Amino acid sequence: MTTATITEPSTATQKFIDSPHKLLIDGKRVDAASGETFEVLDPSNNNVLRQVPKGSNQDIDRAVKAARRAFETGPWPKITPSERGKLIWKLADLIEQNAEEFAQLETLDNGKPLAVARAADIPLTIDHFRYYAGLATKIHGEAIDISVPYAPGSQFFDFALREPMGVVGQIIPWNFPLLMAAWKLGVALAAGNCMVLKPAEQTPLSVLRLGDLFSDAGFPDGVVNIVTGFGDAGAALAEHENVDKVAFTGSTEVGHEIVKASAGNLKRVSLELGGKSPSIVFPDADLEMAASGVSGAIFFNQGQCCCAGSRLLVHKKVYQELVERVADQAKKIKLAPGMHSDADMGPLVSTEQQNRVLNYIRAGMSEGAQTLIGGNIPEGDMNGGCFVEPTVFGNITQEMTIVQEEIFGPVVVASPFDDIEEVIAKGNDTEYGLAASVWTNDINKAHKVARGLKAGTVWVNCHNIFDAAAPFGGYKKSGYGREMGVHAMESYTQVKNVIIQIH
Ligand code: NAP
Ligand code: MG
Repeated sequence: MTTATITEPSTATQKFIDSPHKLLIDGKRVDAASGETFEVLDPSNNNVLRQVPKGSNQDIDRAVKAARRAFETGPWPKITPSERGKLIWKLADLIEQNAEEFAQLETLDNGKPLAVARAADIPLTIDHFRYYAGLATKIHGEAIDISVPYAPGSQFFDFALREPMGVVGQIIPWNFPLLMAAWKLGVALAAGNCMVLKPAEQTPLSVLRLGDLFSDAGFPDGVVNIVTGFGDAGAALAEHENVDKVAFTGSTEVGHEIVKASAGNLKRVSLELGGKSPSIVFPDADLEMAASGVSGAIFFNQGQCCCAGSRLLVHKKVYQELVERVADQAKKIKLAPGMHSDADMGPLVSTEQQNRVLNYIRAGMSEGAQTLIGGNIPEGDMNGGCFVEPTVFGNITQEMTIVQEEIFGPVVVASPFDDIEEVIAKGNDTEYGLAASVWTNDINKAHKVARGLKAGTVWVNCHNIFDAAAPFGGYKKSGYGREMGVHAMESYTQVKNVIIQIH
């Protein structure tokens, strides 16, 4: 018997969805130069939500020109760090005032449960902008005591400034549409850059809504430009000669393309790419907490997290028990449209993603892995939504496709280990190095494994914990550069050294 309540889109949400959607270029709402549009779908039923402009290289070019003008001659370069901070804070306030509308847009467009959008995506976005509002006034250069041995008797004063990169292209994925925009824009604005942002084709709505708020907050025209479109628009941005830096989050495959495209003008690049993160459970862990933690690590956001705990490595003493507990948890997960109050998991973002995940599941089965739970689309009337059951595989070998490749869906592969050296080696045995979690009550093991793993983030007795102040990014093919924290400032500023001779 279901007692789920269904949230209907609020008047504000519906009004926004029904409004004509346009690109944001130089503070103005414009159609794509080609006049073309594309459909945005609700993945819970594949109904069309709306049409949005299909930006192309012409639109990217217009947006880059606007950002360049804003950076070189607009009021933006004269705005003080303190004023930049105030504008970013105001932006956060405006998002907060419209939080429910943003949460609903995120759920309708991406599919995630509304409770998750309300509790995680939107508050994290607001907090993220506030963190960088504060950081705008804390960008420090340094004074350096220099010797200059070939100029005896001379005196110099040397100082290093941190200056913005200039015009930054930002390409983001569909798994946390608004939050990924915040990760890119917060630090970039704090540092004084001007941006062209391209959201993912699957989820442009919340970013288009965000576009309304820049002028409301008081940002000058052209500081943030938004071009919706497909991969070709992203490619045009990555190769544009007048873009100083490109920041990308998405697949490792496209990450390679970005690096190649950046070569023309040697633009700076930061990449946040895929992962195949291990959740490692030792026998001394609190098994109840670990079971629920490692389940959340993979099933949160339908498994569509770059740092999802998609490989479960469990000490052989507790392997059987822990894996049974995880399968039990998976069995209890309620799949439903995100707007339903009882949805633990929503649909995947698109039919394409659903098929990609199902193909991985089939590959796992045909390569001999054992399906412990799930492995299919759910039975019953799911209204044509892009659902996939939470799936746990056992009996795997390191070479299997499902063990090596990023699935980006609710699929975890489990295997036992004997000792700490083995689990560190196994943990590192993929081309990725984004994140990992370790579940143990032994502080020595926690430290040893945290040191041994080649990953940008290691969580101990938790997974998927994020904070604007904590740096995030990859080792190996998971990318380079760090987002969040003071560390992100490094990839959005460049150092200028000034030497003054004192007479
Ligand atoms: P993707 O192709 O890497 O897309 C990410 C972003 O890059 C989107 O805005 C995309 O535009 C754009 N893009 C695509 N081709 C481009 C190109 N040649 N140059 C510049 N930009 C380009 O990811 P996807 O196709 O949506 O998902 C495929 C797989 O990527 C997933 O299954 C998952 O494994 C991985 N992924 C990882 C993350 C992560 O957070 N690390 C996020 C999303 C996906 P379009 O939207 O038009 O394609
Ligand atoms: Mg794509």
